[in-house]
Amino acid sequence: MTTEPVLSQQPIRSVPHSGLRFPAISLGLWQNFGASAASEDATALITTALDLGVFHLDLANNYGPPPGAAESFVGTLLRGSLRAHRDEMLLATKAGYRMWPGPYGEGGSRKYLLSSLDASLSRLGTDVVDIFYSHRYDPTTPLEETIGALATALAQGKAHYVGISSYSPQRTREALAIARDYGIPLSVHQSSYSLVNRWIEEPDAQGDSVLSLSNDHDFGVVAFSPLAQGLLTDKYLNHVPSDSRAALSSSFRPEYLSEENLRRVRELDSIAQELGLSLAQMAVAWILRDPRVSSVLVGARTPAQFRELLHATEAPVLTPDVLIRIDQWATDAGINLWAQRSSS
Ligand code: NAP
Repeated sequence: MTTEPVLSQQPIRSVPHSGLRFPAISLGLWQNFGASAASEDATALITTALDLGVFHLDLANNYGPPPGAAESFVGTLLRGSLRAHRDEMLLATKAGYRMWPGPYGEGGSRKYLLSSLDASLSRLGTDVVDIFYSHRYDPTTPLEETIGALATALAQGKAHYVGISSYSPQRTREALAIARDYGIPLSVHQSSYSLVNRWIEEPDAQGDSVLSLSNDHDFGVVAFSPLAQGLLTDKYLNHVPSDSRAALSSSFRPEYLSEENLRRVRELDSIAQELGLSLAQMAVAWILRDPRVSSVLVGARTPAQFRELLHATEAPVLTPDVLIRIDQWATDAGINLWAQRSSS
């Protein structure tokens, strides 16, 4: 017997004019599937995800820790209990950040991207990933070379779709133009987005935002760090739990827990409570209010956290009045770790 409310299967969102489809909520494997993660928890998370219609798993070459460990973990499952289910899954990986020493161990060069993709395929034990991303813009490599490497991955049948991650509107426009020259679609842009990090809404000097470009150019937006790595929950309101990301990982910087940010969190939390939601659920539902978002990538650490987040798709519609109240507190909290890599 289950004491939890029954969860429905995830709604599916399509990328316009494409066969690429995502569950509204997807599972990201950045930090919680490394060598030190409890294997039963990690396995249960993936099994829970697939059972509940979350068929999209987001990986990168460097996810772990150590780098490569998350792909190896999924590879073990794909060679074992998930062997029969590979075709039902949408598996994404990326290359861009430091993976091995030397000038070919990070960035956007053809050599790095394609060598890294081969290494990812080998760890995953699959011939093809469903989405391969350039994980970041590399100012030291011509963008033609980076996008050309994505085109090669498609031509070689090693990726079904390709995308870019954390590219600014300007770099996104450039990447789209180059992709057009190669005759390939850039199907998806993966970007950080949350109540306290709204950079993809902001127009640049030419009036384009990542979100408006997605509308004009038919690519999907996959939003990452929807909870600002856990800041958008009630867990930090009184202390820093010893098993939390703030306590355990350098990616959650101590300054994120400033008094100003905690005030934002308290105010947003009280709006969520009025709606009968947890703050984490409201944070995800708020992102899903925008149909241009194809999927929200959550980084749940435990099956219980994950199940809680999945209820966000059943949240009441956020009315214009509620959205105005949210907007008062949904302002930049200085937590966008990826801003610096988006254009330079
Ligand atoms: P997130 O969902 O904002 O943060 C995940 C953290 O939030 C968890 O470790 C957990 O913290 C906490 N959490 C999750 N669900 C919770 C719940 N129900 N109640 C309380 N706390 C909860 O996302 P993220 O891990 O930062 O990013 C998500 C995914 O996006 C990654 O796994 C990765 O796939 C992708 N990503 C992509 C990039 C890129 O450059 N493209 C960068 C970052 C992330 P505790 O561990 O403290 O419990």
